[in-house]
Amino acid sequence: PSLLQARSLGTHDPEPIRNPKVLYDKLFINNEWVDSVSGKTFPTVNPATGEILAHVSLAEAADVDKAVSAAQDAFRLGSSWRSMDPSQRGLILHRLGDLMESHKALLASLDTLDSGKTYSSALGDVDYAIRTYRYFAGWADKHHGQTIPMDGDLVTFTWHEPVGVCAQIIPWNFPIVMQAWKLAPALALGNVCVLKPAEETPLSALWVASLLVQAGLPPGALSVLPGMGEGAGAALARHPGVDKVAFTGSTEVGRLIQAAAAGAADGPIKRLTLELGGKSPVVVMDDADLDTAVAECHEAVFFNQGQVCSAGSRTYVHEKVYDEFVERSVAMANARRLGDPFHPDTQQGPQVNEAQFSRVSSFVRSALAEGAALACGGPEGHPAGPLYARPTVLTGLPDGARACRDEAFGPVQSLFRFGRLDEALARADASPHGLAAGVFTAGLGAALRAAGALRAGTVWVNCYNADAPQTPFGGFRASGVGRELGELGLAAYAEAKTVTVRLPVAAALPPVVPPVV
Ligand code: NAD
Repeated sequence: PSLLQARSLGTHDPEPIRNPKVLYDKLFINNEWVDSVSGKTFPTVNPATGEILAHVSLAEAADVDKAVSAAQDAFRLGSSWRSMDPSQRGLILHRLGDLMESHKALLASLDTLDSGKTYSSALGDVDYAIRTYRYFAGWADKHHGQTIPMDGDLVTFTWHEPVGVCAQIIPWNFPIVMQAWKLAPALALGNVCVLKPAEETPLSALWVASLLVQAGLPPGALSVLPGMGEGAGAALARHPGVDKVAFTGSTEVGRLIQAAAAGAADGPIKRLTLELGGKSPVVVMDDADLDTAVAECHEAVFFNQGQVCSAGSRTYVHEKVYDEFVERSVAMANARRLGDPFHPDTQQGPQVNEAQFSRVSSFVRSALAEGAALACGGPEGHPAGPLYARPTVLTGLPDGARACRDEAFGPVQSLFRFGRLDEALARADASPHGLAAGVFTAGLGAALRAAGALRAGTVWVNCYNADAPQTPFGGFRASGVGRELGELGLAAYAEAKTVTVRLPVAAALPPVVPPVV
């Protein structure tokens, strides 16, 4: 089964903790919990109830300065972190995995409370995060260089060294998974990190920091700075003490980060990886197994309230099966159970906040204004609560409409009819984005033709969102720069150094006389 997909609660799953005591609500710098320099805080809110969960310290530029200098200090030559045996770094991440296992219910409950995602998917997220830490823990002492033959008395080899201070800025849709995707490879390779969680979901990130202290991480190797994008986020991206910026979020903010990371004319040249938005297409051929295709295409876009970067939000269906596909997709959307995210039967919680709910409603309104027909759902709210979006299926959206290009980031499926595979592939690929794509077919030729033609970082065949810590993930075109996860994901956190040594000229020795037998 895919890691990033809906799951049902099993008998072995821990009960949620509906009212956890929020122990960590300050900034985490140098393995200590500190107030922000300004003393300001901001509320973090449960979108299902509107209740304030905690007032969290608000990091701004002065706090970023403190965290970056703590990181630089932890990275200085001869520091305990810099000189640690790599397998010891791996052990710290393995211990973190174990500690997360024992706090699974708490971590999942914090993400449910902070983001509105269902408790069952939050548990899936914690599992995914643990697997990510363990996967990269294994790499810590295995990502080594090569020896390279050269002419004469030259000996060449490469070392893989950490990049240094990594600024990591993450979104709210998979808080604990996004944190793991950033921290695990960076710490495994000996980097030092300053992480800014999304302002909507700071709580699990702070808790994981407390577990890393227990796991043995030395002071300064990680700071966690809850704060706003334009405040702490922008200050971090432009900070001259930062060697690398890793960002996951919208394409719009990705552009700002790219500009901020470029910095002043005499500033450092930063390494940059961007995991941005998408508008991912899925192509369903007439020979596809329809039960699988309808169910997977439904989950591809409705999972996590539709707030998934790789959401399969444009579904192209062959004309021979189109009418049946629409009917069955509408039935599935209408059957979705909205309600309390902690209830085991709930499939859809609220959108993360008011801005996100309005974004989804106005997306549906503008799609209808551009000529789409409403097969079910609509822009109005749902009786389950003020931030609950109606599961919506649209048909007849004209190619070239804004709604074919813009991310809804909500539970909205758009279905398109096509006649020939090549036509579907051309329409599917007519997008500025290129994060992911899917194809459903029984034909190997059609599957491989689609996989080759679609310019996307991931193409899933007869499945969707089937990713794992060992599979590289990232975007073509406006969906980003670089890859996370897998062996390729390590490249973003390593500098290769080529060392060439000239051997001293060997003194001429007399010939060796073989012994007489
Ligand atoms: P966002 O871009 O608004 O915010 C993401 C992060 O950036 C937050 O921590 C925010 O505080 C920070 N930020 C905002 N403005 C900033 C600025 N000017 N400078 C520095 N930091 C700033 O995105 P979001 O609404 O939180 O998340 C949704 C978006 O993320 C969607 O577009 C989605 O597709 C994308 N996403 C992509 C991936 C991926 O792997 N490609 C994964 C998850 C989400």
